[in-house]
Amino acid sequence: MELEQVKNKFYEILEKNRAYNYSMSLIYWDGATGAPKKAVDDRSKILGILAGEVFKLTLSQEMKECLIALEKESDSLDKITNALVKEVRKKHDKFTKIPKEEYREYVELLSKSKVVWEEAKNKSDFSMFQPYLEKIIRTLRKFVEYRGYTSHPYNTLLDDYEPGMTVEKLDIFFNSLKERIVPLVKRLQNSDKKIRTNFLNETYPIEKQKEFSQYLLEKISFDKEAGMIKESEHPFTIDFSPRDVRITTHYFEDNLISAIYSTIHEGGHGLYEQNIGEDIAETILGTGTSMGIHESQSRMYENLFGRNINFWRHLYPKLIEIFPEQLSNISVNEFYEAVNKSENSLVRIEADELTYSLHIMLRYEIEKMLIEGRIEVKDLPRVWNSKMEEYLGIIPPNDKKGVLQDVHWSDGLFGYFPSYALGNVYAAQFEQTMRKSLDIDKLLMKGEFDKILEWLREKIHRHGSLKKPNEIIKDVTGEDLNPIYFIEYLENKFEKLYNL
Ligand SMILES: [Zn+2]
Repeated sequence: MELEQVKNKFYEILEKNRAYNYSMSLIYWDGATGAPKKAVDDRSKILGILAGEVFKLTLSQEMKECLIALEKESDSLDKITNALVKEVRKKHDKFTKIPKEEYREYVELLSKSKVVWEEAKNKSDFSMFQPYLEKIIRTLRKFVEYRGYTSHPYNTLLDDYEPGMTVEKLDIFFNSLKERIVPLVKRLQNSDKKIRTNFLNETYPIEKQKEFSQYLLEKISFDKEAGMIKESEHPFTIDFSPRDVRITTHYFEDNLISAIYSTIHEGGHGLYEQNIGEDIAETILGTGTSMGIHESQSRMYENLFGRNINFWRHLYPKLIEIFPEQLSNISVNEFYEAVNKSENSLVRIEADELTYSLHIMLRYEIEKMLIEGRIEVKDLPRVWNSKMEEYLGIIPPNDKKGVLQDVHWSDGLFGYFPSYALGNVYAAQFEQTMRKSLDIDKLLMKGEFDKILEWLREKIHRHGSLKKPNEIIKDVTGEDLNPIYFIEYLENKFEKLYNL
C-alpha cells in the first residue's frame, strides 16, 4: 500500500473508533443524569459490546499494519499524524496483553458497580459494594501483571492518567507537602480567628441556585451553545468535541457554596475542552493532555480565581440580588472569609484548599496498598477511618461520609486521585507565570474573564494532547513541576486570613 493509502486507512479506523466512543460517552452521560434505573443492565450490556468493538479495532491486524507502516515513514508524516500514531501505539501496547473477553467483562462490571456503589452510598452500607470492589481490584492487579511495570505495579496505573508519574516521585512530593502543610494546618487550628459561615447554610432554593450557576458559567466564558449543565450524584465533565462539552453539578438546598464551587470547578474542565484547537478537535488528541493538567484548569478556576477576594468583588452583587434575604447583611469580605474557611472535613469534595491534599494522600496510600495486596478490601472502612483520624483528626460517623464517598473506585479509577493533588501544584505554577503578563486581580475585579481564558487557550488549552504534561509545564513556566509555588501560595493566603 502507498503511504497515502495507509494514512487514509489509519484515519478511517480512528473515525470509526471515535463514533463508538462518542456513543459510549452518550450512554454514560445518560445513565449518570437521570436515565431510568431499570434499564441499567441493558445499558451495561450495550456499553460492553461497544467497548469490545473499540478494543477489536484498536488491536486489529489492519491497525497493527498501519502502525508499523506509519512508524517507518515518520519523517515524511505531519506532526499531528505522528502524534496520533504514538498515542495509538501506547493504547495498542497497553491492551495487546489483556485478553479481549476479560476486558469486555471488566467494562460490564464497572457499569454495574457504579450503580451498586450509588445505592451502597445512599444506604451507607459498604458490604454491598465490597464484592464489586474486590473484583475490580483483582482485575486491575491481573491487568497490571499482563501489562508489566517498572519498579512498582502502581506505576502502570499512574501512567494512564499522568504520563511519566511514578510512586517514587509521588512519595517525595507528598512528603514535601506533609512537611509544610501539616504544620500549617495545626497552627491554624490554634488560631483565635473566628470565621462565621452559618449564613451559607440557610435555605437557598435550588431553582435560584441554578440561576446563579448559569450566570457563573456565562461569566467565565463557558460557551453554552457548545455545552450544557445538568445534575448528577457526583459532579463531572464529559466532552464529545469542543462543540459539545457537558458538565454536571449537585445542588443542596442548605448549602449555597457546594454547587457554586462544583460549577466553577467543572466549568474550568469544560473551558479546557471547549478551547482545544480545531486542527486536532476531532481526533483522539483533541482532549486534555492528562488528568493532572486537566485538574490544574478546574482548580485554577475553583480556587486561585474563585476563592480570590477580587472574584467576589465582581460577582457578589449578583449573588445578593438573587438571595437578598440570606445575604444582604453579609459584606463581601465576610463572604470571602467564609468561602475560604479552613476546617478539617470528612468529605473530599467539600474539603478546603488547605486540607484537600491530605484527603488525596490518604487515598493514594490506600490504593498503593490495595494494588500491592497489602490490605484487603473488607478492611477498607477501618483503614480509612484510622487514616482520617491520623491526618485530619476526625473519624467518619458512617461509610457514606467515609470510604464510600467517591465514585472513582466504582469506576475502576485507580491511580487517578494523585492527579488532583498534582493539579493544585500545576495550577499554582501556571498562575504564578500568568501574573508576569496579566494583572489577574484587576481582571477578576472587573469581570474580564475572557482575557484570562485567552491566555490559557493560547498557552495550554489549544494544544490538547499534542503536548505532554512535562512539555506543557516547561514551555509555559520555563521550569519542571515545582511544588514550592503551591506551598507558598497556601502559606501566604492562610497566614494572612488567620492572622498567624
Ligand atoms: Zn476535577
